[in-house]
Amino acid sequence: MLPFELISKHGDHEQVVFCHDKDSGLKAIIAIHNTTLGPALGGTRMWNYKNEEEALVDVLRLSKGMTYKAAAAGLNLGGGKAVIIGDPKTQKSEALFRNFGAFVNSLNGKYITAEDVGTTVQDMTYVFMETPYVTGIPVSFGGSGDPSPYTAHGVLMGVKAAVHYKLKTDSLKDVRVAVQGLGNVGSHLVEYLVKEGAKVVIADIDQDKAKALAAKYNLEVVDPDKIAAVECDVFAPCALGAVINDQSLPNLKCKVIAGGANNQLAEDRHGDALRELGILYAPDYVINSGGLMNVFVELEGYSSERAYEKTQQVYNSLIEVFKIADAENISNQKAADRLAERRIKSIGQLRTHHHGRTARPFTTLKEMTTRQK
Ligand code: NAD
Repeated sequence: MLPFELISKHGDHEQVVFCHDKDSGLKAIIAIHNTTLGPALGGTRMWNYKNEEEALVDVLRLSKGMTYKAAAAGLNLGGGKAVIIGDPKTQKSEALFRNFGAFVNSLNGKYITAEDVGTTVQDMTYVFMETPYVTGIPVSFGGSGDPSPYTAHGVLMGVKAAVHYKLKTDSLKDVRVAVQGLGNVGSHLVEYLVKEGAKVVIADIDQDKAKALAAKYNLEVVDPDKIAAVECDVFAPCALGAVINDQSLPNLKCKVIAGGANNQLAEDRHGDALRELGILYAPDYVINSGGLMNVFVELEGYSSERAYEKTQQVYNSLIEVFKIADAENISNQKAADRLAERRIKSIGQLRTHHHGRTARPFTTLKEMTTRQK
């Protein structure tokens, strides 16, 4: 398919920018999906795509996902994403990332980038040499550092919202939570849950990680193949995607699914199936938006305390999602999409009514440019 055919097939993007630099070998695509709520924020993925079509489809899909994520998280951000076509192991250079940064800068803040799969904080420091429109830079540069404690804190808020809605309690004391994956997000989540008095069961394919955490907090460890079928109140997937699929679904013995992993449903229909089974699902892109909230705070001038405060919004957004799903008898995933779409529509209307003027137009960007290089 030709580029414009692909663009119109994969959504209603505002702008798609092809970036090319012969000397550094840069081939990148920036997709700006929607800027109704604010500048389009989304990371830069570097990947050895099979061909340009695959890269374009990926950036179109991911940028649209960011619009929904930011909107449902209640942030004044739009959705965007960038991809760099190339092997992250062999094709990186200072010149490549500075060239990319210059392209980002040419968009004057309409798109703000960050690290993603295949790119690192170090790569972003090169981007930052050419543009202020980058987040997730190192703490020493005024950045926010590792987002995972904030992502995990947002997940904790999500667990609380789901437990409140489904189990009618505001305490996690003795609530049994099965955490799958003990990496950056999972290990922080376990720590927060233990502090709340939850009974935590853990699993990781890396047995050493599971053993170390179990010893630290005196937790039950189960086989990674069994964790999705553990009898529990809350199943918290914090590893890979597609964990809710045709195989795992009939074996689930939880009342709630609330975890940080991306793309938890193998297919949309699994969201409908969860509703039929009476299992309350916290849609992934809403419950794991704490990391995005953290970089948003970086744009305003970073404060860890404010970032933690912001993650409370995950609780409110999820309660809204659960209510929409029940009122309209749709899956929670679809309800999350509706929440996002309604917010974009209502704030878009506000813009129209006020002739495009807002009380605080892109304040975040103004503040951001005061950061020192
Ligand atoms: P990570 O790589 O640090 O941790 C993943 C952990 O899962 C590893 O310990 C790995 O051994 C384990 N694992 C892999 N397959 C497993 C399996 N089948 N069973 C049990 N354990 C398994 O990654 P992370 O940063 O903690 O991210 C976890 C998930 O959360 C990912 O889906 C990621 O996309 C998503 N997420 C992360 C953030 C963040 O701030 N890091 C933000 C949003 C979403």
